[in-house]
Amino acid sequence: MRIPLSKPHIPQKVFENMNHVLTSGKLSGDGVFCHSAEEKFRNILNAKHVLLTSSCTHALEMSMLLLDAKENDEVILPSFTFTSTANAVLVAGLKPIFCEIDPNTMNMDMEDVAKKITKKTKAIIPVHYSGVACDMEKLKNICSNQNIMIVEDAAHGIGAKWKGKNLGTIGDIGTLSFHDTKNVVCGEGGAFLTNNDYLADKAQIIREKGTNRAQFLRGQVDKYTWVDKGSSYILAEPLAAILSAEIDIMDQLNQKRGIIHQYYIEKLAELEKKEILILPKIPKYCESNYHLFYILLKNQDERNSLMTSLREKGIGATFHYIPLHSSPAGEKLGYKKEQLPITEEYSNRLLRLPLYPDLTKQEYENVVEEILNWSRSFC
Ligand SMILES: *Cc1c(COP(=O)(O)O)cnc(C)c1O
Repeated sequence: MRIPLSKPHIPQKVFENMNHVLTSGKLSGDGVFCHSAEEKFRNILNAKHVLLTSSCTHALEMSMLLLDAKENDEVILPSFTFTSTANAVLVAGLKPIFCEIDPNTMNMDMEDVAKKITKKTKAIIPVHYSGVACDMEKLKNICSNQNIMIVEDAAHGIGAKWKGKNLGTIGDIGTLSFHDTKNVVCGEGGAFLTNNDYLADKAQIIREKGTNRAQFLRGQVDKYTWVDKGSSYILAEPLAAILSAEIDIMDQLNQKRGIIHQYYIEKLAELEKKEILILPKIPKYCESNYHLFYILLKNQDERNSLMTSLREKGIGATFHYIPLHSSPAGEKLGYKKEQLPITEEYSNRLLRLPLYPDLTKQEYENVVEEILNWSRSFC
């Protein structure tokens, strides 16, 4: 593709950091760069505990393993999300309960969440789609006094806010992703966030192969040993070195995304007026990080027509999540396509446009031009 959907930005400082780490001789995790990146995140995000992980998928797995679930315990999550959100639930032996989305934001529909809560509900995983926060106030009200954990999948949400609070720090636990496609990148990586000391201690053990090595390093115990279940979820130091440099320019990167987002909104407004497409809306309680830009076409045929037309011109416009409930794994769990009609409909109507910090003005102007050309020939 001449203009891809997304592309990571690598600042010069990364090369310097990499050199440092490669000559230091320490490549395993929890080294100097890991700790400096965690400290930066604690300050920027105002989170008490930040544990860097090998991916957001793994941070989600840690969260689910923390629940100490019994058989048939349930976790509510949207069907319109990445497979990792659901896999984490399955890996920990819990049952995913898929809920509908609200097409105004593509985030979970809280009315539907409320209907799906049972005595077996252990946790709810709101996914902040495109860097726009879920309605956390409604969710908190739904969960109050029910002993249900809120685990935010904030893979899209680094640097975005809900009522002034950073996404990933509003629920009991939050998870971030630094995969190449996200706003802040290190190749593959993630973070586990919590303000709860008890959960942080348990998470350390799971992250460190079931050992109390973290306590040992802090001098709280004099030997470290196997204390509970766990796995290997620590981010390697060379990746933390990349991440540490990326964090410093996060605001600039998000601002650049915001400029392109605003351009798309302004230039495509005429097509929204003609009811050819619907533009994304950011609720008042949100500050977006402009992770991705999507439009909603009238139906799947028109979406595919525009997608094909843009791709022929070398523009990497793409659909997004295929609903999980109607995927082969979802069907194995007993779900039927018809159960979540809004998710089915809107995932078929959604088209993402190129958005990344290094996208040039000429390039994003060209994207808009080609959409306008398509609309004239099509409508
Ligand atoms: C990218 C993404 C993940 C997984 O992130 P990794 O760091 O690649 O494991 C999970 N959930 C959502 C919503 C994502 O977009």
